[in-house]
Amino acid sequence: MKKYNFNAGPCVLPREAVDAAVDAIRDFDGTGIGLLEISHRTPGWERVMAETEQLWRELLGISDDYAVMFLGGGASTQFFEVPANLLKTKAAYLQTGVWAKKAIKEAKFFGEVEVVASSEDKNYSYVPKNYVVPADADYFHITTNNTIYGTEIHEDIDCPVTLVADMSSDIMSRPVDVSKYGLIYGGAQKNVGPAGVAFVIVRKDLFNSSGRPMPTMVNYATFVGAERRGNSMFNTPPVFPIYVMYQTLLWVKRQGGVEAMWERNKAKAMLLYNEIDRNPMFVGTAAKEDRSLMNVCFVMASGYEDKEAEFLKFAQERGMVGIKGHRSVGGFRASIYNACPVEAVEALVACMREFAAGK
Ligand code: PMP
Repeated sequence: MKKYNFNAGPCVLPREAVDAAVDAIRDFDGTGIGLLEISHRTPGWERVMAETEQLWRELLGISDDYAVMFLGGGASTQFFEVPANLLKTKAAYLQTGVWAKKAIKEAKFFGEVEVVASSEDKNYSYVPKNYVVPADADYFHITTNNTIYGTEIHEDIDCPVTLVADMSSDIMSRPVDVSKYGLIYGGAQKNVGPAGVAFVIVRKDLFNSSGRPMPTMVNYATFVGAERRGNSMFNTPPVFPIYVMYQTLLWVKRQGGVEAMWERNKAKAMLLYNEIDRNPMFVGTAAKEDRSLMNVCFVMASGYEDKEAEFLKFAQERGMVGIKGHRSVGGFRASIYNACPVEAVEALVACMREFAAGK
């Protein structure tokens, strides 16, 4: 049976990227040696690193004022590396979910943290609006897409202080005006590759702006500069996930770049949200204006609550994988990242219709 992968991350990757990675594991760059067995100082590898960085710059329009780095430790490591590098006295955070809350917890090790607004009162089902960012904050931290709750900040907001964004689950899903941000970071394992590497895009003037001495591996400045023979090459980089990222970005470019991804993502999300709104058996959990294009969360409508397990089984029998909602929201979550084909969304919609028709 054909499987449709709706996992929230790690998740579906472009088949071409996976195939290219498998080939490279056997023979990297025609060297006769596999990707997992080469030295990271091999010239061919240095070229992959440089081209991967160049693809990021090209796809998101990142200027030379910014460094682009690929680091280990996932997005969770950035929860403390961001304040270590940027927080001098006070930082402001928008609390839109548990990932934001975890980032807040780590920032408190480094200074004062002001939570300007939180949507915890309604289980993070919306994005707070009309909050005031303190002018004396060193930076304001947002999570642009809240993977668990299916809410998203759709615009690049205007911010009076340095804007920092966790874009783990919506990077490369739409065009981003990088110049509005001081720093953008995230784990790769949704739209840009497998687990094992995080991306950090940081304006260079923010290097060492906290003024605090830091361990070498925590300091962003460590990873940038010609003396390192390429960025992100201070120590052994996560070679395999970076290679899959490289191939994934080449795929994004072949699809027409982030504009084309955005059009596709909007069309996929609309298909599914329309069905949720039309089908009396289901109801969306996120505030309509904040609905995520990446993670679509829904539950059984009132009166049908007892059918949840039945629908899950029904959908699984038709090839749907990974649609069980996060335990803190319940119901269902379909993650429809860049590499999720429209056919998968069509199959899920058909499944929802078939289930409702049978009741
Ligand atoms: N931020 C967001 C928005 C996430 O969705 C996740 C993981 N799902 C994280 C941070 C944590 O990422 P990692 O597992 O790479 O530490």
